[in-house]
Amino acid sequence: MNKYDMVIAGGGPAGLTAATYASRAKLSVLVAEKLAPGGQVLLTERIENYPGFESIPGYELAEKMEHQARGFGAEIVTETVSAARKDGSRVLVTTETREIEAGCMIAATGTEPRVLGVPGEKELRGKGVSYCATCDGPFFAGKKIAVLGGGNSAVEEGIYLTKFAEQVFLIHRRDKLRAVRLLQERALANKKIAFLWDSVLEEVEGNNSVSQVRLKNLKTGERTELKVDGVFIYAGMLPRGDFLPESVRKDEAGYIVTDDKMETSEKGIFAAGDVRQKLVRQIATAVGDGTMAAVAAGKYLEEET
Ligand code: NAP
Repeated sequence: MNKYDMVIAGGGPAGLTAATYASRAKLSVLVAEKLAPGGQVLLTERIENYPGFESIPGYELAEKMEHQARGFGAEIVTETVSAARKDGSRVLVTTETREIEAGCMIAATGTEPRVLGVPGEKELRGKGVSYCATCDGPFFAGKKIAVLGGGNSAVEEGIYLTKFAEQVFLIHRRDKLRAVRLLQERALANKKIAFLWDSVLEEVEGNNSVSQVRLKNLKTGERTELKVDGVFIYAGMLPRGDFLPESVRKDEAGYIVTDDKMETSEKGIFAAGDVRQKLVRQIATAVGDGTMAAVAAGKYLEEET
């Protein structure tokens, strides 16, 4: 079938929640997810700040969300949405294999890791340079790892990597972490983590696999080399909203601007989760966005089409 009441681009917590609400309300719903349902939750080892679950592996929470959405009839497929445009009151959604006609769409495509663009980063990606500790951490048993960044991801994943690595060097461009205090305290108390403050990564080096990184101390200007086997980069995230038409307003950083009903500047196109301009990007807020978007989009279908 190529006609749905609602197409949801992205199968993370925002998209899967929207799918649950909309399919439970008897709308025909397609979720197009380019990888596996769950989004970044799948890449998180353990989650302990999603209410109702004191501690749950990321993949398990993702599975439960997927199961719930499918249970109400949502169709979830592995397809990448490459474009979306309005055609009268309908939204035409393009994936790599087909064009789909929808009454409305929800963009829940989340974010992707920011690439630093330093020499060696691209060349050694998959050969020691990684953006996903859950995926690649086990390859570094007994090894030395550099983790770049000072946010929740860098600190949380840095702690996770100490399960495998002999030593983790946390490299941050300032002398204060951005991560929440609980994670800071855990990292500072972890004997396997050494902090390299006021430092930036200038180059990743290695022949076929990472052997060292070149760093610069921003306060002293001193340049040093650090022998490591892997580099995990957590320098923030970039929104994935390029497939949307120009008429969907975004902020300077590319995040989609919505009102409090998750409606974008283009009628019939809604946005939910990390891809949306907002203050807090968490599973709990993504789930809230997904709920709001599905209900508001349902009302839009009743009233406007
Ligand atoms: P983030 O909060 O934006 O942090 C990015 C870090 O990278 C910052 O410390 C930043 O330094 C540093 N950075 C940025 N550009 C850099 C560059 N060019 N060179 C060197 N360092 C650079 O990103 P995130 O940690 O990936 O988190 C993304 C979102 O997911 C956040 O909203 C976060 O709260 C959420 N999240 C939550 C959890 C959790 O609740 N457990 C876990 C993971 C992520 P500055 O600090 O100097 O800006």
